[in-house]
Amino acid sequence: MRECGNWKFHIPSGAGRILDTLHEAGFEAYIVGGCVRDCILGRTPTDWDITTSASPQKMKQLFRKTVDTGIQHGTVTVLMPDGQYEVTTYRVDGEYLDGRHPEEVTFTASLTEDLKRRDFTINAMAYSEETGVIDEFDGIGDIRRKMIRAVGNADRRFSEDALRIMRALRFSAQLDYSIEEKTREAITRFAPRLSLVSAERIRTELEKTICSDHPERLRDAYMLGLTKYFLPEFDVCMSCAQNNPHHRYTVGEHILHAMQAVRADKVLRLTMLLHDIGKPSCKTTDAEGIDHFHGHVNKSAEMAGRILKRLRYDNATIDTVVRLVSCHDMYMENTESAVRFGMVRVGPELFLPLMEVKLADGAAQSSYRIGMKRRQVDTWIRLYREIIRRGDCLDLKHLAVTGKDLIAAGVPRGPELGTVLKRMLQDVLQEPSHNEKTYLMNRYVLRENL
Ligand code: ATP
Ligand code: MG
Repeated sequence: MRECGNWKFHIPSGAGRILDTLHEAGFEAYIVGGCVRDCILGRTPTDWDITTSASPQKMKQLFRKTVDTGIQHGTVTVLMPDGQYEVTTYRVDGEYLDGRHPEEVTFTASLTEDLKRRDFTINAMAYSEETGVIDEFDGIGDIRRKMIRAVGNADRRFSEDALRIMRALRFSAQLDYSIEEKTREAITRFAPRLSLVSAERIRTELEKTICSDHPERLRDAYMLGLTKYFLPEFDVCMSCAQNNPHHRYTVGEHILHAMQAVRADKVLRLTMLLHDIGKPSCKTTDAEGIDHFHGHVNKSAEMAGRILKRLRYDNATIDTVVRLVSCHDMYMENTESAVRFGMVRVGPELFLPLMEVKLADGAAQSSYRIGMKRRQVDTWIRLYREIIRRGDCLDLKHLAVTGKDLIAAGVPRGPELGTVLKRMLQDVLQEPSHNEKTYLMNRYVLRENL
């Protein structure tokens, strides 16, 4: 472990050896970017990037195992026994013509030039044991001030690469930092350039934002005029009032509070983000002036599917979130059979996550009947645990009768097989003791065949 000032740099042995090898060969080399920021913050870095004056060709001579990850941009991945490290030659980015990628990069002998091309002051620091922290843009000051500030001219930095807009939002949510004024103004000005950023890159940053400790920072993205480029449905929610005893917030504010009230898990946070997204289009106001949102559950589920597809989410994530959204208002009687039917509807593996969704939804509503809503969820969870403990049959796989049994008893092959099995399952969900071959065959096959 290496110490510098009050900060501890637990540089992994592989990264340390890379630095030493480069130094011994007469080159400059530093750890740089996010890992320096994280060490100063006392957080554990997710990856350790290295920047060096050595050319990619030189690196390939110095290290036995390398991969040409982005050799034209000067990046070589060095494989070490404890992991892999990206090592990049000091570089200057050329003209950005597409609002996202430099046309060309040129290598430089100057660390300062390399730090200048980085996005924010907190991400533009380098460290080596010999030099300590190199901080040319007062990244440490901005950490103290809790500020996201662009390196150099903010307008230029966002016009070069619009992804930096999403990164500013994401870092402000992860670190709970504000965005410095000039940087904020530039973000607002260049927000329309977000349409140049691929859906995948937007998704990554949006997900990091809503899975951070401060998902409510999405409010800032709305105020800065960013959400309208990647989640315009949310803008509509921010201006949709809910005059209803269950609610105290607009739909948008309710969504923000609901995200805060749930665990920082991708599926749960996405579910809370989208659970009421269809409300504005279902709003009606009755004679007493009370707002209603009939049909909003199905509408939200349908919109959630479309939005997640647009953000290029994988099918498994889309399916899980849509199922949770479409069940978020599901009501069950306080009986084991009602809970079994509920478990089948959402999928048994999603029952507990659904309870988390319901608790978060309730916590973000008004205090009206809040205690009752919580007790209700507790009761459902108790019934669920009992069902799981006993191992009740919840699907065709665990039914005491199979398709083969039905064929042997003379039921014709074809859709009727499925119909009979489903009827049996309904019976067993109602009454688990009925999951018994003789009973089921007598009741649903033999008697009908007589
Ligand atoms: P994380 O903790 O999520 O890894 P990070 O800051 O390390 O955050 P990376 O995407 O790993 O982010 O990038 C490493 C470094 O490269 C950043 O700290 C920054 O210096 C620089 N960088 C990354 N993306 C950009 C960009 N779009 N524009 C300018 N510099 C960037
Ligand atoms: Mg990183």
